[in-house]
Amino acid sequence: MSFSGNIKEELERVNVSSRHCRLAEMAAIYDFCGKRTEEKDGKMVISSENELAVRKYFTLLCKTFNMYKDYGETGSYDKRGAHYTLVIGDADESERIRSAIAVTSETMRSCCRRAYIRGAFLAAGSVSDPEKSYHMEIVCQDEERARFLAGLLGSFDIDAKITTRKKYHILYVKDGSQIVETLNVMGAHVALMDFENTRILKEMRNSVNRKVNCETANIDKTVTAAQRQIDDIKQLMESDRYRNLSPELRKMAELRISYPEATLKELGQLSDPVLGKSGVNHRLRKLSQMAQSDKEENYDKKGNHHPS
Ligand SMILES: [Zn+2]
Repeated sequence: MSFSGNIKEELERVNVSSRHCRLAEMAAIYDFCGKRTEEKDGKMVISSENELAVRKYFTLLCKTFNMYKDYGETGSYDKRGAHYTLVIGDADESERIRSAIAVTSETMRSCCRRAYIRGAFLAAGSVSDPEKSYHMEIVCQDEERARFLAGLLGSFDIDAKITTRKKYHILYVKDGSQIVETLNVMGAHVALMDFENTRILKEMRNSVNRKVNCETANIDKTVTAAQRQIDDIKQLMESDRYRNLSPELRKMAELRISYPEATLKELGQLSDPVLGKSGVNHRLRKLSQMAQSDKEENYDKKGNHHPS
């Protein structure tokens, strides 16, 4: 079962007891799965490839409207080709349901906005596997519905964007924490935990990788600096200056050459007496400066870069 499939199964089982929320959820399913163009003689038609959405509509219908109490036994939605279809058998009854589920965002309570979002997702939503990417979307038939839904999500501080794909308007959320918030708003708490677990593992892996990269970069830096110091010392050894070095500097030069991979701190501990990092750094810099002046002198004397 896909990640989306699991969410929908969970949402289908979410059971609200208040009539207003049930009507709001029905309104969403009708908005997203209703086939107004197929409503001959005014009989309401709900049709979707997704059985869960049609089944949920049917369940809500039975719970909300008394006359459908017995419908469950006979089963009043069926499969037509790839679509599950529910037709309300009576035009007057259809009209009564239509007016009961008519909603506007201004009059919707927070609980009903959640129910509407849940119904819309059940009917036309999907979420990518968080292991791969963070992407949640709801496919809308027209821009008006997309904007209405974006407004409802906005009331929970979820910033949904709208784009078009073929003739559809796609409402989408890309941010991991905003997807989590949407799952929370809809009441998909098991899916929320799954999503969060994956997200935490993913972020831990990323931060370990970042740390490893960072440490590798630091080691590279140390090795490059050490190599430069060794080159300078070798250059100095070929000149007269080396014989005139103070014992401290000469000792440091020998240590550097003997321990090419040692850090400044390690060189300090190898010194006698023990030196701090800055003491080691100071001596190595002095050696490099001397090598530099030696190079310049040679250049002046011979007119080329290569000391004899
Ligand atoms: Zn409500």
